Amino acid sequence: HLEVLSVQRTSLLNDMRNALLNDQFELHYQVLVDANQNPVACEALIRWNHPERGLVAPDEFIPLAEQTKLIIPIGEWVFNKSCQVLKTLQQRYGEDFRLSINVSPVQFADAECKLLKWPEYLSGNDIQPSSIVVEITEGLLMDNKGKSLSALLHFRDAGFQVSLDDFGTGYSSLAYIQEYDIDYLKIDRHFVQQLNGPADSAILCESIIVMAHKLGIEVIAEGVETLEQQQALADMGCDYVQGYLYSRPIPLAKFI
Ligand code: C2E
Ligand code: CA
Ligand code: CA
Repeated sequence: HLEVLSVQRTSLLNDMRNALLNDQFELHYQVLVDANQNPVACEALIRWNHPERGLVAPDEFIPLAEQTKLIIPIGEWVFNKSCQVLKTLQQRYGEDFRLSINVSPVQFADAECKLLKWPEYLSGNDIQPSSIVVEITEGLLMDNKGKSLSALLHFRDAGFQVSLDDFGTGYSSLAYIQEYDIDYLKIDRHFVQQLNGPADSAILCESIIVMAHKLGIEVIAEGVETLEQQQALADMGCDYVQGYLYSRPIPLAKFI
């Protein structure tokens, strides 16, 4: 059984190496709306158009891309593509419209640290760094090797916005969140989806929102699927929501 898995892994890996060359990746965009339901931003989510397998979801290839560091060139592609579409999005939704990209801790830890060049790229292309939101996960803040954190500080100093993804699933301390000047907390969708279930989830969401606001951080709830969840989050003062209730991630042509 393990052998089968390793053969599958090798073939997926070979295919992934060619995917960049053959232009098989694609970004889909999912809207974020504010408390008045106005679109304010979107999140870019990668898809892989595999010639035989069809559309492959990121959960099926991102972990392998991270293990093999292929996520570094893939992440560079995501950043470049996002910069290319930003102008189009801002023409359609206004110049304050933001674009979020997911950045893997592997990209931050990379010895060459390609992403340190991103701010330069933006200024060369006349893009406001505050239009780009970098979504990181809690693990990055707890990595005490220093390198990743100094890259994160470099981003912050360059004016990028930073969002802490999947919040509530890890062990981030408040001290880290303040020290690294996080702009947004994204409440993990598992908490949002239990909002109308056991009361604990509602207490948790509300505490996150109150705490974040005290620290001057805005809160995004992801995975909002029902009007009940939307209402509960609005009552708690959640700043932004994202989820199938508003839209699934869709190709650019449908988004604009
Ligand atoms: P994530 O960053 O937490 O992204 C949110 C995921 O939840 C997306 O799955 C999105 O399609 C899904 N989602 C959004 N709204 C709802 C909803 O209302 N209900 C439910 N059940 N799901 C919802 P997706 O696109 O399959 O991406 C999965 C994960 O793959 C992402 O989780 C992210 O960690 C990773 N990923 C996606 N694109 C990239 C990328 O460009 N770079 C890196 N490093 N990771 C990426
Ligand atoms: Ca994300
Ligand atoms: Ca998330």
